[in-house]
Amino acid sequence: MADPFKLLVLPGDGIGPEVVAVALRVFERVCHGAGIATRIEHDLLHGAAWDAWGTFCRDATVTRAKHSDALLIGAVGGPKWDAIVVDGATPAERDGLMRLREELETYACLRPSRAYDCLLERTPYRREVVAGADVLVLRELCGGLPYGEPRGIDTLDHEGFAAYDANYYTSGEIERVAVVGFELARRRRGKLTSIDKANVMESGILWRRVVGEVGRRYPDVELELLYADNGLYQMTLRPTSFDVIIADNIFGDLASDLAAGYAGSLGMLPSASLHGLGGRRAAIYEPVHGTAPDIAGRGIANPIGTILSVALMFEYSLERADLARRIEAAVEACLEDGVRSADLGGDATTEQVGEAVLARLD
Ligand code: NAD
Ligand code: MN
Repeated sequence: MADPFKLLVLPGDGIGPEVVAVALRVFERVCHGAGIATRIEHDLLHGAAWDAWGTFCRDATVTRAKHSDALLIGAVGGPKWDAIVVDGATPAERDGLMRLREELETYACLRPSRAYDCLLERTPYRREVVAGADVLVLRELCGGLPYGEPRGIDTLDHEGFAAYDANYYTSGEIERVAVVGFELARRRRGKLTSIDKANVMESGILWRRVVGEVGRRYPDVELELLYADNGLYQMTLRPTSFDVIIADNIFGDLASDLAAGYAGSLGMLPSASLHGLGGRRAAIYEPVHGTAPDIAGRGIANPIGTILSVALMFEYSLERADLARRIEAAVEACLEDGVRSADLGGDATTEQVGEAVLARLD
């Protein structure tokens, strides 16, 4: 018998545990149906870990993560922990999720978003503008502003403070994620749009140069280069003209929340964070949204972003695209039948959406 698929579940904070519980049932049901053996472990991350152990991510959790095939994470953070200052701490020491992304080197974060025909009225767009939109935002996840050095807040001699961050990137870091972008574009509709601020940032100049160089190895992929401000504007004007959109850690974060508008809610978007395509290293699967403190604890969060993250897990870590498509079809059927959470204008609870998806899987 094959080794069991090793999944580490880290529900996180806020609505994280609510959406993860539902998505985990989908994972277990599909594995059971397909005869896939699993070994599932649970652990705490970030706020939940801080409350239990006074650290945002234990070393033991990192070790467990490295010995897993995949991690299913809810989301982390919230007002209770966002203001905790750990003196002299690195970004990874201040944020459990950032530590795991760094330790697992999951530099390629895939964030697909599409317009669902049955939800067009729920988007902020006119039907004819957004119908058919289907994009994949590829966010670089291990470099740039969130991790770059130097960073800090200094006290100035006379008065006030100075704060600074560095959008630090090596050509190697840009190249490896660009390769993933071109490979994904080749598997999809053959177009890659890269957004940067090469007009005003050194990191943007290098980003644009390296993406262009990698592009010469992919003559079959159309490469579009846009300044990030205009790029986000164009994403609102002509959503259907985009296929894969590649960006650094910050612009990719912005672009993916913007793309959530195509799907009708931020609660719809999944992600897969990979150490490149086809590797055997542990990958992270989590919804794009955060912990939604405004609705946490009420059982009304939309679990679809997390359920679709499980679909991406079947596609990229289990190499079972067939099972990924089954989950996606069940989700779409559920939406078409009007089973929708509050963010989509419905009144279904997190549990009810989960049950509806499970019922449509078989
Ligand atoms: P958020 O994504 O948590 O929420 C933004 C808005 O979208 C809120 O109105 C929220 O109610 C809504 N929303 C998000 N997910 C939803 C869902 N599944 N169903 C229904 N509605 C949903 O962003 P925020 O409010 O800026 O951040 C809240 C906390 O989350 C902060 O502490 C932030 O640091 C953290 N955060 C974590 C992650 C992560 O862990 N990957 C990502 C983003 C933000
Ligand atoms: Mn984000």
